[in-house]
Amino acid sequence: MSLERRIHLDYKELEKELGYEKESSWGGKAAEIEAFSERYKNFLANKTERECAAYAQALSKEFGFIELSSVDGKLKAGDKVYALGKGKILMLAAIGTAPLSEGLNIAAAHIDAPRIDLKPVPLYEDSGLAFFKTHYYGGIKKYQWLTIPLALHGVIYTKDGAKLEICIGEDESDPVFVISDLLVHLAADQMQKKASDVVSGEQLNVIVGSIPLAESDVSNKVKLNILNMLNEKYAISEESFLTAELEIVPAGKARDVGFDRGMIMGYAHDDRSNSFAALAALLGSSDLHRTSIVLLSDKEEVGSEGSTGMQSRFFENMMAEIIELTGDGHSDLVLRRCLANSRVLSMDVTVAYDPTFSEAFEKPNTALLGFGASLVKYVGSRGKSGSNDANSEYMQWLASLLKDNDVAYQTGELGKVDQGGGGTVAYMLAKYGADTIDYGVPVLSMHAPYELISKADLYSCYEGAKAFFASV
Ligand code: MN
Ligand code: MN
Repeated sequence: MSLERRIHLDYKELEKELGYEKESSWGGKAAEIEAFSERYKNFLANKTERECAAYAQALSKEFGFIELSSVDGKLKAGDKVYALGKGKILMLAAIGTAPLSEGLNIAAAHIDAPRIDLKPVPLYEDSGLAFFKTHYYGGIKKYQWLTIPLALHGVIYTKDGAKLEICIGEDESDPVFVISDLLVHLAADQMQKKASDVVSGEQLNVIVGSIPLAESDVSNKVKLNILNMLNEKYAISEESFLTAELEIVPAGKARDVGFDRGMIMGYAHDDRSNSFAALAALLGSSDLHRTSIVLLSDKEEVGSEGSTGMQSRFFENMMAEIIELTGDGHSDLVLRRCLANSRVLSMDVTVAYDPTFSEAFEKPNTALLGFGASLVKYVGSRGKSGSNDANSEYMQWLASLLKDNDVAYQTGELGKVDQGGGGTVAYMLAKYGADTIDYGVPVLSMHAPYELISKADLYSCYEGAKAFFASV
């Protein structure tokens, strides 16, 4: 071999030894990845926080979890409990052998997602069409929600006060709903507007009907026809909408993307990808040393406020109940020690690098689709404002754990400095003193009606959560 050639090889070795390069999350696990993706796509049929919480609750029961409030006597190692708050925030706990004061392994994700909610007085008629007035929820590019098939999910009460669960637009035989857009032929003015003003919040009016009631002398025949049909089918009246909670979401199922089917396009990967990864990981865990927790919370997209958001006392209260039931002696001090000694994975999606919009990213510090779930040291905006900013010791511990368990991972941050930003629930759990970091699946088109993830990243996230729960 020539000297030149040998030196070249040595430098290749040196580069491999000293440099860092991301590794694909596909390595040798295609069958497991595909099987897990199918389970996940079933979970995505749940499109509201209520539906996700109910599904996760039912699934956890199949794996031996029982309702915390029904525990009679003591909780001991190996026991599994859940607590559901107002149908929208769910906590699962698998009791470990270690005393609770040593701390918990907590995976926290959220099950709410950007969507379009109905206003309390939604139904009106204009020019022979019936519409719903709406008020959107969370951060959306409003123009993305025009001219796509939409479904209606939620709860409403009948005239007699019975609670109904509504889901219209998901079955192939169901009708769907739609928000119109202005035809391009007459859009000279609209096309000059800023993207944020192309359609206003008050223009997100959902078309829900067009056939008038026959031979009536009322003025709003289409609206009355709709009310009449709804009354026949559901025994509701217009007044029922005043107290309803009805959400407009993209209609239809999640689909595989690409000739090689490596990605999933679906509604609300943020944050149901991580919610499902955490849930499946805990359901598949046993013989845990530390008590392990999955928290699936509501209201993250609007600041985690409210009684079902992560800022509520729900988690703390349920932990106080568990401490009491394990006989570790209930005092405020035990609870404080338990939470302060905990480790937290704040499991939320992170942005994936988009080569088509490369100007918004700093590539080496952005997660790539297909290179594993991402550790995110800090989120926030304008100089990390509002961020948890995980400490090096915890990141090193976690990175080692993932490597030791052969779990693909990478790091990422939310785009270029000063380009924007975002927040997660991380700082809300970190306030107890717990080691906390953001961790999750990279997403393309985040907050669009249909988001895109890699199946391999989803699976790595599940594997990561599993290793985390098993850690001592
Ligand atoms: Mn999120
Ligand atoms: Mn989000």
